[in-house]
Amino acid sequence: MVGMKLRSRLLTVAAAAAVLAVPVAAQQDFSAVEVTAEHVSGAVHMLTGAGGNIGVSAGEDGILIVDDQFAPLADKIRAALAGISPGDLEFVVNTHFHFDHTGGNAIFGKEALIVAHTNVRKRLAEGAGVRGRPAEPAPKEALPVVTYDDGVSIHFNDEEIMIGHLTGGHTDGDSYIYFTDSNVVHLGDQFFAGRFPFVDIGNGGNAVGLRDSIGEVLEHLPADAKVIPGHGPLSSVDDLKTYHRMLTECVAAVKAGKDAGKSVEEIQAAGLSDEWDGWGSGFINESVFIGFIYESL
Ligand SMILES: [Zn+2]
Repeated sequence: MVGMKLRSRLLTVAAAAAVLAVPVAAQQDFSAVEVTAEHVSGAVHMLTGAGGNIGVSAGEDGILIVDDQFAPLADKIRAALAGISPGDLEFVVNTHFHFDHTGGNAIFGKEALIVAHTNVRKRLAEGAGVRGRPAEPAPKEALPVVTYDDGVSIHFNDEEIMIGHLTGGHTDGDSYIYFTDSNVVHLGDQFFAGRFPFVDIGNGGNAVGLRDSIGEVLEHLPADAKVIPGHGPLSSVDDLKTYHRMLTECVAAVKAGKDAGKSVEEIQAAGLSDEWDGWGSGFINESVFIGFIYESL
């Protein structure tokens, strides 16, 4: 049922960005979180709650979701899915391993097949920490059952859902998920809509790789595609272009400073272009983002 090695119809790249604006999941109170659904296009919907945006394919074959936020939200996610379609959950695809995208795996993995890049399984199994925040090894039911290195396609709800690895951007296990007929792509945390991204350098992320991955996505993505970001509102290809320009210009600015012999503190003191004022959010303020780029060069 899961078959076909993916060629790089969309691409083979590198990118990564996570959203850990959420401090400590275990201590977070999810009781007030609402999970809401919006139709994106064709068979695809998007759920927002806490953590990464969830992509949904719903139709006669059942339901496939891309990412699953946090385990305490599983019932709310289930209720939102039931509002879209009565079908059973058949697949969970993880865009990358971060806890705000895979927390529901332990629940949904008991009923659906989890599909992800090889490094997602590896990092979940070993309990990879993020930015000094430790993590426990994930239980067996939370681990991807189907893994791939380059990509895989799932033929589901009358379309090909192409999943492909993007190398070295937000983490070292990032994927895009492209719903070919619905013309929607979920980019996980390669794309923070209108914000500076988290670059998880400790887990193989790299800001330069992220810039290049997004550039390659843009070369292949139809101009009228809808774009689901890991965090932030549903976006257009134009929004993704602006984000790519931000990455390109900020990487160039930090590189110019570093090449001129400046320290990261000096570049942080000078700051980035005023155009990107307001792009900092959570712990990823301008100085932190400059630090990610400096370390990536
Ligand atoms: Zn992430």
